[in-house]
Amino acid sequence: MSNTIITFNEVSKRYDHTDDYAVKDVSLNIEQGEFITILGSSGSGKTTLLKMVNRLQEPSSGTITLFGENIAVMNPVALRRKIGYVIQQTGLFPHLTIAQNIAVVPKLLKWPRSKIEARVDELLELVGLPPKEYRNRYPAQLSGGQQQRSGLARALAADPDVMLLDEPFGAVDAINRTSLQDELLRLHRGLGKTFLLVTHDINEAFKLGTRVIIMDKGQVCQFDTPERIAKHPADGFVTSLIASSRQQERFWEELYD
Ligand code: ADP
Ligand code: MG
Repeated sequence: MSNTIITFNEVSKRYDHTDDYAVKDVSLNIEQGEFITILGSSGSGKTTLLKMVNRLQEPSSGTITLFGENIAVMNPVALRRKIGYVIQQTGLFPHLTIAQNIAVVPKLLKWPRSKIEARVDELLELVGLPPKEYRNRYPAQLSGGQQQRSGLARALAADPDVMLLDEPFGAVDAINRTSLQDELLRLHRGLGKTFLLVTHDINEAFKLGTRVIIMDKGQVCQFDTPERIAKHPADGFVTSLIASSRQQERFWEELYD
């Protein structure tokens, strides 16, 4: 049986001093253990949708629940500790080593030192950064891809139920991006956590997502499995999105024919 972890009930968001809704009338359920990707062009409301889950933004109307509880009545700090958050700019503290960066939340939670050290090593192994080599480096001493791995490790530190990832590989080159995507899939399968990942790349969205939320102008055009979206696009916008990706595929096929 599936278990609903996050629910959006008629959620809309309009920022102060703006005319248009950034997010409009979103209602949907996310089941525990899903890998949800949120696909849309720039300005379609993806980041706003994600940030409302950990209350970095508040809805103008509607409610969001986590395990059936309205998040608006939860302590935002306690909520954020249950939710991992990874962004393109990693947010790693430049003056702290990678180990210290990963240990930030466990320290706030007052874990014993030995437990923190063991967790840091375990996480570095998990994201493919051998601890001996990497734990005492500073963020500036890592490549972009390695910094993203460290950001991922830090977000996983306190074993959150939900991971929010906002274009985590946006600044990583194509080769490293593919291997990071593969590792993220492996991590997701192994951890059984719920992932929500924002991307503007249709290939990334369809490769990673168990279900894909397609957004346009703040609204959800379609929310379904990649297969069903490809077979039955809900509207003209989704149809054109898929057509443009097919066109790209044909370009490569013709090149190697
Ligand atoms: P995306 O992540 O898909 O690019 P965003 O959620 O960042 O989209 O933005 C959706 C809309 O909300 C855009 O029109 C954007 O300009 C607007 N917006 C985003 N953040 C703010 C803000 N802090 N204040 C005012 N408008 C904002
Ligand atoms: Mg964004």
